Amino acid sequence: MNLNVISNPQAAYAQIAHWRQAGQTVGLVPTMGALHAGHISLVEQARQACDRVVTTIFVNPTQFGPNEDFSKYPRTLEGDLELLRGAKADMVFTPANDDMYPPGSSTYVLPPKVSLPLEGEFRPGHFQGVATIVLKLFHLLPASVAYFGQKDYQQCQVIKQMVDELNVPMRIEICPTVRESDGLAMSSRNRYLSAPQRQSALCLWKALQIAQSLYAAGRHSIGEIEQQMRETLLSQGAQRVDYARIVDRETLLAPSEDTDAVVALIAVHVGTTRLIDNLLLEPLGAQYSVLHTP
Ligand code: AMP
Repeated sequence: MNLNVISNPQAAYAQIAHWRQAGQTVGLVPTMGALHAGHISLVEQARQACDRVVTTIFVNPTQFGPNEDFSKYPRTLEGDLELLRGAKADMVFTPANDDMYPPGSSTYVLPPKVSLPLEGEFRPGHFQGVATIVLKLFHLLPASVAYFGQKDYQQCQVIKQMVDELNVPMRIEICPTVRESDGLAMSSRNRYLSAPQRQSALCLWKALQIAQSLYAAGRHSIGEIEQQMRETLLSQGAQRVDYARIVDRETLLAPSEDTDAVVALIAVHVGTTRLIDNLLLEPLGAQYSVLHTP
């Protein structure tokens, strides 16, 4: 089966509608390209579970702030197509900007309130852009299930809630974060890092592991653990910490008496590159599996 590369929205819709009418399940993997093993792990999970696998490659302008890296975001289409062929994807949708945002577009999704803390504070408008493009893609590509990476934990919560609250007929699957062998979460932005910055970038994983061990030890307050994370990040190579927080896994707010489980989330600047990572923290004795290497 060859990889079908489609840029035309009507053609993409028709292909998926055809598969669905024939009773086939379709798995959707939205991406911004510059694909790596993390993206491919989503394609592989879709391949295992669904009859057809569709990926999208679109660098979505509305989720970038005015001083962010939209224009220099890596665009590596030929290499991406090779990786998708290797992973046996059936189709990739590569729309033009004007097809996703007809000139003069002014309609946006107001994302749910889980979008407000953390990334919401440091990247105002980001999740409005994410929710808008994801809903557009869900309309154009009416798949059975869509796959997202836990690497972007808050994004997963925003999309899950949006789909629930806007009655979108799409199942959302969250897949584990794929890491390099030394723990660095794979990211298209890692290619911005120089060799010394690549070393410094390990501070995220170190801080998350410290958070896990302090949390499991059970002798420290959330505030103390957050302080330890921050100190680790700054002493191990981060220039600036946007946040290093431990919050409720559902609300992404400070844990309360209703909190069942927590997640540690980090955003830092290494050189001029902004990196994020997270880890579901487990109490002492809980089984936890965090390393998922390709
Ligand atoms: P992006 O191209 O950065 O928008 O990412 C597209 C999808 O791949 C999103 O659902 C991401 O969460 C997911 N993703 C990115 N990096 C990883 C990773 N290291 N492991 C698993 N999924 C990832």
